[in-house]
Amino acid sequence: MNKYDIIIIGAGPAGLTAALYALRANKKVLILEAKTYGGQIINANLIENYPGLPSISGFEYATNLYNQVKDLKGEFKFEKVLKITKNKTVTTTKNKYQAHAIIIATGAETRKLNLPNEEKFLGNGISYCATCDGAFYKDKIIAVNGGGNTALEDALYLSNLAHTVYLIHRRKEFRSEKKYQEALKSKKNIKIILNSTIESLNGAEKLESLTLINTDGEKTTLTLDGLFIAIGRTPQNEIFKNVVELDEFGYIISPDGIHTKTKNIYVAGDTRQKLLRQLTTAVSDGSIAATIAIEEMAK
Ligand code: NAP
Repeated sequence: MNKYDIIIIGAGPAGLTAALYALRANKKVLILEAKTYGGQIINANLIENYPGLPSISGFEYATNLYNQVKDLKGEFKFEKVLKITKNKTVTTTKNKYQAHAIIIATGAETRKLNLPNEEKFLGNGISYCATCDGAFYKDKIIAVNGGGNTALEDALYLSNLAHTVYLIHRRKEFRSEKKYQEALKSKKNIKIILNSTIESLNGAEKLESLTLINTDGEKTTLTLDGLFIAIGRTPQNEIFKNVVELDEFGYIISPDGIHTKTKNIYVAGDTRQKLLRQLTTAVSDGSIAATIAIEEMAK
């Protein structure tokens, strides 16, 4: 069985940053990734809120980080992890590996509407991240879909940038905390559309309009420039349940944001319970997790 100092699961910004720190400390590192490198950020049209990098595409950022890790001789295997044990054995669809420490950095996938054109219009009228992409819709007409804290927070944030924000929710009441609902009342440019779901995403090369259907079966067309989908996230942590604790939404609970309940198994990035899921907080987690893992391996 191949042995490593640290195995990192997930090649998004948190995992790649952890790899960067571990490799620079001369550790033997394996990065396991089920899909491709970069995580969610690779889909960001432009990143404009990363300190010191005024404007960079998500693809360029992720590729730079990936290459930085490759240049340090980070070993990548694009294999899906099936199981990890308390003894730091990792089983993938293809192999079995052994490590002294494991860092789980598997992110959280944004829930999709699963409608035709959703993937095609990503970055061309469709976004899953208001703080990442809001600035591209200055003075435009946009919509936010969802009824939780994220959707209401996004609508409030975007109302300071956009001309009009339609907030579309499938029920007659929001599930978000009341404070956000109170805050909506003072926002003249937020128009609330309840009891409605999005039936189709229309346009040729980019999103041009939505077809909405309400609970009475009536259809309307909403012409707009952009749609922010904020219908929740789904972390993929079920396979780690034997070594970590999960909250009711499936995020890994870590009292200090790094350690899990199992010795030498750490967590970093969006997959843990945290206040702010952003690129800055993901790379911060990755650097701390690797540094602590290295320190504790030596003990
Ligand atoms: P959420 O609370 O799960 O809400 C998702 C919303 O999307 C719900 O209103 C849900 O509708 C709707 N939805 C789900 N699937 C849908 C679909 N296929 N089509 C249309 N609508 C759909 O997700 P969230 O708002 O991202 O929040 C996740 C967690 O993070 C929550 O615990 C939240 O409190 C927390 N959070 C906290 C803060 C904060 O404290 N500042 C900010 C953001 C998020 P239904 O209501 O019908 O289920």
